[in-house]
Amino acid sequence: MKKVLILGSTGSIGKNTLNVIRDFPDKFEVAALTSNTRIDLLEIQIDEFKPRIVVVRDEILGKRLRDKIGNKCKVLTGNSGLLEVAANFDYDIFVGAIVGSNGLAPTIEAIKRGKTIALANKETLVVAGELITSLCEKYNSKLIPVDSEHSAIFQCLEGENKASVEKLIITASGGPFLNKNKNTFNEITVEEALNHPNWKMGNKITIDSATLMNKGLEVIEARWLFGMTKDKIDVVVHPQSIIHSMVQFTDGSIKAQLGLPDMKLPIQYALTYPERCKNNFERTNLPKIGNLSFFEPDIEKFECLNLAYSALDAGGTAPCILNAANEIAVDKFLSGKIKFTTIPSFIYKALEKIENHKSPDLVTIYECDRLTREFVSGLN
Ligand code: NAD
Ligand code: MG
Repeated sequence: MKKVLILGSTGSIGKNTLNVIRDFPDKFEVAALTSNTRIDLLEIQIDEFKPRIVVVRDEILGKRLRDKIGNKCKVLTGNSGLLEVAANFDYDIFVGAIVGSNGLAPTIEAIKRGKTIALANKETLVVAGELITSLCEKYNSKLIPVDSEHSAIFQCLEGENKASVEKLIITASGGPFLNKNKNTFNEITVEEALNHPNWKMGNKITIDSATLMNKGLEVIEARWLFGMTKDKIDVVVHPQSIIHSMVQFTDGSIKAQLGLPDMKLPIQYALTYPERCKNNFERTNLPKIGNLSFFEPDIEKFECLNLAYSALDAGGTAPCILNAANEIAVDKFLSGKIKFTTIPSFIYKALEKIENHKSPDLVTIYECDRLTREFVSGLN
């Protein structure tokens, strides 16, 4: 029986992780759950999955939950609670399903204990990829991707020699504005941007998918997960989201992983790896799908993808600046303060303004993250 800690159990990935765990009561037990603010849902999860400890990041809401549930389970609060549970509590698999760079510190605690890390929280690898991968090596911690593209690549690489990989081909749905004229981008509403054609996800990643920043973050994520340089990572637009990504080998052969756009499959694979376990998820019916199509991404139209490529080229803390600026800009867009087209311009300004530090340690990364947030918060 594997004990699972889910950081961010009330979000889209968190709930899907619990959906998978529910199907395998003899394989997994929920050790701990955490939420930012959604204590009502967390309480329902406590009743069903009976974790021994939960963390609510919002202190006031955490105290409210503690008063309400009495001794059903222990309730910690705040960022310190998240660190405490990752660093000292008993579990085998750490599921990183928090959104944003807030996932970084607890993930590092789990890595230092040599835990298996099922990572959905791509921002952690974007801001500190070099550091995270070297810590994983040092503490013998296994990083298993949950992001569907990276899970696909991870599956394609099974049994292969890394030296025979020619390139990784990451697929992108293209988001809701794939065929929209760029001249009309400044009229895009929050509601339109949140309407993703294929995937149901949390708000932040849904906006990232609309700007194609999500694909940029995924290229950076792939760079660190698979130790590939940027020239060996291609992005191809594939609107049906059936091929989740591919690997091309030195003999020209391409391996792909296919499936319906449902995160339960990559989550299950990460939890059960290296085993595959039978489930009753809907199967992919290729004749029903009919056509699979592919295009080059338009980086003139989707500037965020281009900005991510530049940040990856620049290296050092540039991806951290890119990510922090994007998090603040997306927040501002979601709360109606800026236009869709202002998102890339804020990120561009931050990359110009904030100093880049090469091979940063954790202190430098946090400082860079803080400075960028402060700078972009002041823009309008
Ligand atoms: P979400 O917004 O639905 O859920 C986020 C979870 O994190 C919630 O449980 C929330 O309570 C918690 N949380 C939010 N802010 C927090 C903070 N500051 N401190 C502590 N906890 C906090 O997000 P999601 O769509 O589930 O995405 C989670 C992560 O997984 C993101 O990094 C995203 O890029 C990645 N991801 C998501 C999907 C998807 O299908 N949803 C696919 C691939 C990767
Ligand atoms: Mg993805």
